Amino acid sequence: MQEQNRLNQVKAEGKNFLRSFEEEDLKQLLESRGFPVYRAQQITAWLWQKGESNVDKWTDLPKDLRAWIKEHSEVDTLRLTDNLQSQDDTVKFTFALADEANVEIESVLIPSRDGKRNTLCVSSQAGCAIGCTFCATGTLGLLKNLKWYHILEQLVHVQKATGKRITNVVFMGMGEPMQNLKNVITAIRKMHKYFNLGYRHITVSTVGIPKGIIKLADELPKVRLALSLHSAIQYKREQIIPLAQAISLEQIVDALKYYYEKHGRWLTYEYVLLPGFNDSKEDANALVEMGYKVPAKINIIPFNPFPEAPFRAPTKREIYRFAAMLERKYPYPVTVRMPRGRDIAGACGQLALLHKRKILESLQER
Ligand code: SF4
Repeated sequence: MQEQNRLNQVKAEGKNFLRSFEEEDLKQLLESRGFPVYRAQQITAWLWQKGESNVDKWTDLPKDLRAWIKEHSEVDTLRLTDNLQSQDDTVKFTFALADEANVEIESVLIPSRDGKRNTLCVSSQAGCAIGCTFCATGTLGLLKNLKWYHILEQLVHVQKATGKRITNVVFMGMGEPMQNLKNVITAIRKMHKYFNLGYRHITVSTVGIPKGIIKLADELPKVRLALSLHSAIQYKREQIIPLAQAISLEQIVDALKYYYEKHGRWLTYEYVLLPGFNDSKEDANALVEMGYKVPAKINIIPFNPFPEAPFRAPTKREIYRFAAMLERKYPYPVTVRMPRGRDIAGACGQLALLHKRKILESLQER
């Protein structure tokens, strides 16, 4: 019904965003305007596989169709507003939504050091409602759920801007993917179809929403799952992840077990190391217990501070002391992931936060 309304809107003359159309919608639209339906496949290829936003370059389409498209629609739903390259080759992109210029999202391209992989960290929401105390995005609150095409379009613009083919995608940018799961699932299916990305090359990271974990396991069991754990001790988790006050670790473990049975491979526990808060022997022992409940490798991520953050960055000594404590007893691999892109505000939400501050300051100066 919604799709039909959208078609009617275009038919009635208003402009619309071409990337927001499913191929089936495009077919109906073209047919209603007297164009052959097979053109929908060519348009879809230009939009996603070839990633070309300039309709004049769609030269396998007849001129009258190109003219009609330009008259009645915009192509992109995102506008690139910033693009910063780190000394370590990480590139951070900021986009504004084309129809809401004040709403910004971020993506980060992380090329592997051997040049074999290009991992894109995408946003699933603008801002985030969860409000984790160690996360810059959490301070923004939820601004908007992204549609599937906003998520997918991040890949298009990053590939175009860098000339690099994205080989892996992680949902670890702005937002909690499980709170926008319908759009996330659609975007993942289209990444597979249009970008030839294997499901095992896509990772969804969550703070732990059991219903979402179970739905993802049912719909896309090959996709990798990462739990943003950060503490395996319930009362500590509640202090840094407000949602943990409503969802216990036991509930999350039950959902993870379900996922693991369907997925068949180790999951990942993400652990942002917050010195003096979650780096004691007791914290390491609790993590070991988690490992025996659901098999998962651990990524230790040294905290990357942002202005007014309530924690500092751990020292190298603190990081390796904790990793060593864990490695002695933990049954699966433990890896330290040094944060990349520090010189370009690499922490999730940091750049959008800086932009938001600039906007607020300029408003105050008026
Ligand atoms: S860590 Fe993730 S879930 Fe928590 S506030 Fe940041 S974006 Fe949201």
